[in-house]
Amino acid sequence: QEILDVFIVGGGPIGLACGIECEKAGLNYIIVEKGVLTNSLFNYPLNMTFFSTSEKLEMGGIPFMSIAHKPTRTEALEYYRRVAKTWKLKVNLYEAVKTLQKKEALFEIVTTKGIYLTRNIILATGFYDLPNLMKVPGEDLPKVTHYYKEPWPYIGQKILVVGGGNSAVDVALETWRKGAEVTMVLKNESVDPNVKYWVKPDIENRIKEGSIRAFTHSLVKEIREKEVVINTPNGEVTIENDFVLAMTGYVPNFALLDQLGVELSLDEKRQPCYDQTNQESNVPGVYLAGVVCGGLNTREFFIENSIVHAEQIVGHIKTKDS
Ligand code: FAD
Repeated sequence: QEILDVFIVGGGPIGLACGIECEKAGLNYIIVEKGVLTNSLFNYPLNMTFFSTSEKLEMGGIPFMSIAHKPTRTEALEYYRRVAKTWKLKVNLYEAVKTLQKKEALFEIVTTKGIYLTRNIILATGFYDLPNLMKVPGEDLPKVTHYYKEPWPYIGQKILVVGGGNSAVDVALETWRKGAEVTMVLKNESVDPNVKYWVKPDIENRIKEGSIRAFTHSLVKEIREKEVVINTPNGEVTIENDFVLAMTGYVPNFALLDQLGVELSLDEKRQPCYDQTNQESNVPGVYLAGVVCGGLNTREFFIENSIVHAEQIVGHIKTKDS
């Protein structure tokens, strides 16, 4: 059986950046992606705009042209498609990694489509697959979603948006502008301080004027078929409700790291253990790239500050080989 130099798990922007570095170094590699190319971006809200300017998302020397200053989801999907095509990256789509284990000097990887042997693994699995659950009764009702696509299903509906980050704010404003009756549940005094600076005054003013109702210092207690119960500083409040959009964030899939013996920090951040100079984890030959490196702090790494991981990792693999 063929032995790969590098097996890359995840065909997100950072998995692709790693593929480019492997191409440059002449390494024998494969990128295995369980969904479509840049699957996380594909699953973003349809009208999402990046907070990064397009130059900062560039890789492999390929210019990223976007119509406005900040690119849209569609522009990013097209850009990364062009990156993969131009560099002729070896990417297997619709193939999920199931198990990874050390086998003597190599690693054996079992996917939904085959078995691979490799000298090195790069885990670039991101964070968008597992929602950060509220863990309240009723969260599994079909009217509750942790992924938002577009406003049209919510016209004339009573919706509850949970969370105060960028995603929650975008959802609240977009659905309200299309005629939804929007209530927000915020665990703090206001929306998060890191909400995009050009959006923050918009949501603050909608809340101030009462167009969007907000319960601050509050948490969802229970979700029922036709209502939700909220714990507020003034006691429990029950309001009518048709849909709950829980924009409570996402968590990386620690199970894959665990299979390989990658350790996580013991604090609440649960950051994987790795050497910041070369991204190698506590398991020699297993590297971490992209958002997954932040553990539960999923805001620490994003595309623009993670592209560098690719060069660091492949640089280190090359020194081991020489
Ligand atoms: P991902 O893009 O999440 O890629 C990981 C890939 O691994 C996925 O495609 C997934 O399907 C695949 N995968 C997972 N498990 C397996 C498995 N078992 N087998 C095979 N494949 C697997 N970042 C910025 O830099 N700028 C921005 O402006 C910006 N805006 C954002 C807006 C929104 C609404 C959101 C949600 C995020 C935004 N981000 C932004 C963050 C950005 O999406 C992430 O930083 C980026 O996706 C990280 O890339 P990644 O390659 O590390 O992970």
